[in-house]
Amino acid sequence: MEILTIEHLTKIYGKGDTAVRALDDVSFSVSKGEFVAIVGPSGSGKSTLLHILGGVDRPTSGTVRIEGNDIYALHESNLAIFRRRQIGLIYQFYNLIPVLTVAENITLPLRLDGRKVDEQELSGLLSMLSLQNRVNHLPNQLSGGQQQRVSIGRALINHPALVLADEPTGNLDSKNSAEIVELLKYFNREMNQTLIVITHDERIALQADRIIAIEDGRISRDEVVRA
Ligand code: ADP
Ligand code: ADP
Repeated sequence: MEILTIEHLTKIYGKGDTAVRALDDVSFSVSKGEFVAIVGPSGSGKSTLLHILGGVDRPTSGTVRIEGNDIYALHESNLAIFRRRQIGLIYQFYNLIPVLTVAENITLPLRLDGRKVDEQELSGLLSMLSLQNRVNHLPNQLSGGQQQRVSIGRALINHPALVLADEPTGNLDSKNSAEIVELLKYFNREMNQTLIVITHDERIALQADRIIAIEDGRISRDEVVRA
């Protein structure tokens, strides 16, 4: 089943002489449970693509369908709700809220929706993330690897259709990177979580089911590396 379909995505920043065509007629689909690595040189359009898939940056033209919903046809307020429920975002620099504890950061997407936290589920998730002894810590009391595990928890708490990660190991040493890769792979394989990860990290790309390479805003390679 296809969970994501993008068609003829183009993104142009600016106008006139200084216009930059960051994405140029990009189309592809992703199936439920697929783990896709997006690779390519700096400035090739990877982050732009991820932001558009995540519902945070409108394309100049083209469509993004997630579970059949044309997300940019939604009204802004409905798009915000859709994003919170159906898209988990993981960033290189974690983007945690500094005044909220680990548990509060992870459950934020639920609470913003006025939904109840299932304490048993939360405690299971905290264990999977090896954060059960850091529940009430603040982000600045955590190592980088721990902060990234919090952001993975926040991305997963709503069981979103899609998890999108932009260089999730870019700020971590090799030991912490390896742990993050293992976790992402675990949620992908064991929970069938669809995952799209931008990475320069070979170790992530080698774990993916499929590698899409972007160059100059276009797909230069799209290869299934694991059936
Ligand atoms: P990557 O993630 O592969 O490094 P980006 O998607 O960040 O690439 O950038 C693609 C191109 O779009 C680059 O040429 C970049 O300079 C340009 N770009 C990205 N964001 C903006 C912006 N907000 N305004 C203008 N140009 C941008
Ligand atoms: P790492 O070895 O992964 O870089 P750190 O040396 O930053 O980790 O932290 C080691 C342990 O100490 C971590 O488990 C972290 O939770 C804890 N820790 C780090 N900084 C603080 C702090 N300011 N307050 C409380 N605990 C901290």
